[in-house]
Amino acid sequence: MQPLFLKSVFKERIWGGTTLKMEFGYDIPTENTGECWAISAHPNGPSVIENGPYAGVGLDTLWKEHPELFGHPKEEVFPLLTKILDATMDLSVQVHPEDSYAKVYENGELGKTECWYILDCKEDAYMIYGHHAQSREELMEQINKGQWNKLLRRVKIKPGDFFYVPSGTIHALCEGTLVIETQQSSDTTYRVYDYERRDANGNLRELHLEKAISVTSVPFQETGVIPNIKVRENVAITTFVESEFFSVHKWDITGQSTFLNDNQYLLMSVINGEGILVHNGNRYSLNKGTHFIIPVGFGEFSIEGSCSLIISHK
Ligand code: ZN
Repeated sequence: MQPLFLKSVFKERIWGGTTLKMEFGYDIPTENTGECWAISAHPNGPSVIENGPYAGVGLDTLWKEHPELFGHPKEEVFPLLTKILDATMDLSVQVHPEDSYAKVYENGELGKTECWYILDCKEDAYMIYGHHAQSREELMEQINKGQWNKLLRRVKIKPGDFFYVPSGTIHALCEGTLVIETQQSSDTTYRVYDYERRDANGNLRELHLEKAISVTSVPFQETGVIPNIKVRENVAITTFVESEFFSVHKWDITGQSTFLNDNQYLLMSVINGEGILVHNGNRYSLNKGTHFIIPVGFGEFSIEGSCSLIISHK
């Protein structure tokens, strides 16, 4: 059994840039690369296994053909998606539906609860997280009148911050933000406001106001994240969230640390530094920007070096 190293898929976005290349050394396709789909089995961009007996196989196929690697899961599709986003401009203000709504109105897609760990951002960066309307009528009125300053809730951000973004939360990443996102495997977005920007052909992007108004949670309720930190030999383990959709942790490793993984599969992303993963006498190098999955039944392994990883699991 080996860790499953993954090849990312990149997405061009009007708001993207070149940070993914500069920070992680990725071979990005254009100067406007906004998204790295790092651990994905979504049909719009599945990752491919890079090593071992499954080299060349898509994660979506592996999920179907080798359920033992994932503990014979009940879900039909791989439920999680890890992305890195490089926002060099404000993203459109949006909201995502929950599972039951997406199932009915979006062809059986999953809903989208997501979360962000801020890898880096410019000074005085902020994001849009929630709204100030007290009732759905007020929400509708402020959206229809375009009272965005009154409606949208702006939050200052800094590197290392973590935000849980349940479905139904109005949100947007803003200019100068680099984040690693863990989300449900879904590509369903309702656009609320796009700053009246026009594309190269002079067209406005489509808004989805009716759906957005019906799925937005009113009033906004802050789901404050209080990171819980546990320190043991050569590793600090931070837990940001443990929800029905996913759990997200950060491991900060200095030196050598040993782990045991039997019952769940882990999605792992190296966000800083480098190290070596040692398992059954095999050594695998871990670099900033490496993404991999530890399968169920992997057993004991160690990581040595100086590195930080974001870990997520169901
Ligand atoms: Zn979103």
